[in-house]
Amino acid sequence: MSELSELAADLLERARYFATLTDLGLPLASAEARTVTDMAPAGESGTSTSTSANTGTGTPLETLEAIREDIGDCQRCKLAAGRKTIVFGQGNPRARLMFVGEAPGADEDEQGLAFVGKAGQLLTKIIEAIGMKRDDVFIANVLKCRPPGNRNPEPDEIIQCQPFLDRQIASIRPEVLVGLGKFGAHWLLKTAEPITRLRGRLGTYQGIKVMPTYHPAYLLRNPGAKKEVWEDMKVVRDLLAR
Ligand code: URA
Repeated sequence: MSELSELAADLLERARYFATLTDLGLPLASAEARTVTDMAPAGESGTSTSTSANTGTGTPLETLEAIREDIGDCQRCKLAAGRKTIVFGQGNPRARLMFVGEAPGADEDEQGLAFVGKAGQLLTKIIEAIGMKRDDVFIANVLKCRPPGNRNPEPDEIIQCQPFLDRQIASIRPEVLVGLGKFGAHWLLKTAEPITRLRGRLGTYQGIKVMPTYHPAYLLRNPGAKKEVWEDMKVVRDLLAR
């Protein structure tokens, strides 16, 4: 691609992205503000000694089960017609670390679980490389339904799905979020900067640290980029060690 057409494609992508921002509604209150600290049942708060569990003393405003129930047999966007399963995301509801990917693929649509295909197996290795287990973290996607033929998520789909991911993050209250690839990173950071420029630079979502990095599917095609993801994940590991 020539430099000019690359620039034009980038501008078009940004224009499309900013068009989606106009309908996103009011920003959520900070994750802390959504905590009902005086509702924690006696003995429950802060009892975990695991370094991978979120030991914050507050009780989440709502549970993941309540959010899943609200999604129901979702028909809010056109993806409902072609999906087999709604992929809510899975993992530790009090995870200190949460990953946000793009959308379910064929394997995820079949099994109803996020990141279980080839890219998911690589994500497991990435998690284990920083001394954690898959069950320690929470894994979700920008979209909960598979786009046909694994095409890119479209703005109307992102907008319909957005409140549920916002609520999941507010419920889990992770200390660090990792945005996987362009869509995960753009969604969390509300930017359309290319992932090549974003990766490795910490940002924030609702006061939570965000590390944007390459998507594992990209790493399967470009194994040479694994070293950059490793650099990013070391920063994440060090943030969680504090
Ligand atoms: N790619 C994603 O972004 N998410 C998945 O769940 C699987 C593949």
